Amino acid sequence: MSNYFLTTPIYYVNAKPHLGHAYTTIVGDALARWHRLLGEDVHFLTGTDEHGLKIQQAAEAAGRTPQEFTDAIAPLFQQAWQRLNISNDDFIRTTEERHKVGVAKLLQACYDAGDIELDVYAGKYCVACEEYYTDDELLDGDLCPIHKRPVEYFEEENYFFRLSRFQDRLLRWYAEHPGAIVPEFRANEALGLIRGGLRDFSVSRTSLQWGIPLPWDPRHVAYVWFDALANYITAVGYGSDDERFHTWWPGRHLIGKDIIRHHCVYWPAMLLSAGIEPPAGWAVGGWLLVGGEKMSKTSGNVVNPLDLIDDIGLDGFRYYVLAETPYGHDGDFTYEGLTARYNSDLANNLGNLLSRVATVVGKQCGGIGPAPRADSPLAEAAAEALAATTEAWGAVQPHRALDATWHMIRATNAYLEANEPWKASPGPDVDAVMGDALEALRMVAVLASPAIPDTCQTVWERLGLPGRVDEQRLPAAAVWGGYPGGLTVTKGSPLFPRR
Ligand SMILES: [Zn+2]
Repeated sequence: MSNYFLTTPIYYVNAKPHLGHAYTTIVGDALARWHRLLGEDVHFLTGTDEHGLKIQQAAEAAGRTPQEFTDAIAPLFQQAWQRLNISNDDFIRTTEERHKVGVAKLLQACYDAGDIELDVYAGKYCVACEEYYTDDELLDGDLCPIHKRPVEYFEEENYFFRLSRFQDRLLRWYAEHPGAIVPEFRANEALGLIRGGLRDFSVSRTSLQWGIPLPWDPRHVAYVWFDALANYITAVGYGSDDERFHTWWPGRHLIGKDIIRHHCVYWPAMLLSAGIEPPAGWAVGGWLLVGGEKMSKTSGNVVNPLDLIDDIGLDGFRYYVLAETPYGHDGDFTYEGLTARYNSDLANNLGNLLSRVATVVGKQCGGIGPAPRADSPLAEAAAEALAATTEAWGAVQPHRALDATWHMIRATNAYLEANEPWKASPGPDVDAVMGDALEALRMVAVLASPAIPDTCQTVWERLGLPGRVDEQRLPAAAVWGGYPGGLTVTKGSPLFPRR
C-alpha cells in the first residue's frame, strides 16, 4: 500500500477560522478522501501556528498569557473543521512538546551543517508580516506591500540561515523533480524567485519571548519559519519518533500563492541543509477573494464559513468551494455564485436525477431496483467519467474532477429524457433503462464522495446498497455493472431543495 501524507498550512491563531482557511482545508479534505478511495494509506494533517510577536502582543492586550490566549483560539479551528466534515488524521499545535523537540533538532542540524550563523540585521520590518522589507519592496517608501501600513526600523543581532548558498542546490533539485509544484505556472513563480537570487533570512529574535529557544543559544528564540514550517515533519515524528517519521515523510503540501517563497524556497533549503529529503510536492492555490479583495480583518470582508453552512448546507458549501474556482487561480466568493452552483449542479442535476429515478423505480418497478445492462449506452460515458475524474484529482484540479463526474449525471438525465421511462408500461424495457440509471447513480456516489461525503452516503443508502460509500475502492468500484439489482430503492426527501 502506498503512503500519501498531505498537509494544509497551519493557521495563525491571531484570527478565527474564515473562508480562506476553510477553502484550503476543504480542498485538502477532498484530496485526502480521494486518495483513501484509491486504497492508499493516507495521513492528512492540519493545525495551528501559535508562536510569535503578534500572539504575544494580542495576549498582552487581552490580559492573558500567550498560552491561555492560544488555548482559547485553537479549539475554534478544531470545531470548525469538525463541522465542515474535515477528515484530518492529526491536528498539530506548535505549542505542543512533540513540535518543540523537533524544531530544536532541525535548528541544531542546520547549525551543525554551518548554515546558521550569527550576524547583525538592520532594516525595515513589518510586525504583521514578521518580515523585513527592502526599500524597493515597500509602497510609498515605508508601507508594507501586504498590510499597507508603516514598517518599523529594527536593528538587532540575529542568527541567519544562509539561504544564499542554496541557489544551485535548489535549482538542481527542482530540475530532478519536474512536476513537484502544481499548477505549472506556480512552479515557474517559485523557480523565478530562486533564479532571481536568494537572501539569507533571519531565524531568531532576542526581543521575542513567546517561542522556542535555540538549543545552542537560548537567549535567542526561533521565529516564524523554523518554527512554523517544521510542523510538517514534527507532527509525523521528526525529533520524537524516527520510525514514524520515515513512514510518512516526504509529504505533500497544499499552500496559498502568498507563501510560495517560504514553502518552495526556504523550506526545501532548510531540509537539504539538515540532510532531510524535500517535500514530495506542493499544490499552490490562489485566494478566495471577497468583493475582489483578500479577506482580512482590516478590509472588513471576513466571511465565516460556518454561517454559509447554515445558509446552504454543509455539502452545498463544500461543493461550491471545490467546483467554482480552478485550483491555483484566484476565485471571487459571492452569495449569488453560491446559490447558482447549488441550484444548477446539486438541485437540478444530482438531486433531480436521484428523485426521478427513485420515483420511476417506485411506480414502475415495484420499488425494487433492476440490474444494469452490460451493453448499456451509458457504459462508455461511465468509463470516460472515471478516467477524467481520476486524472483531474491526480492533478489537484477538483473543479475539473467534479465536472467530469457531473458529466455522468448530465448524460444520465439526457438518457432518461430520451427514453421517458415514466411514460412507459412496466416491463423489461423500463427495467433496463432504470437499471442503467441506478448504476450511473451508484458510480456517481463513489466518484463524488470526496467532495460531498454525507450526500453520497445518503444516495448510496437510498439505492439500497449496503455498507459505506467511503469504503469503496477505485478503480474496481467504478467499473460499469456494479449495481447488483434486487435492492429496495427509497425515494426520501429532496437531497437539495431549490433555493
Ligand atoms: Zn506586512
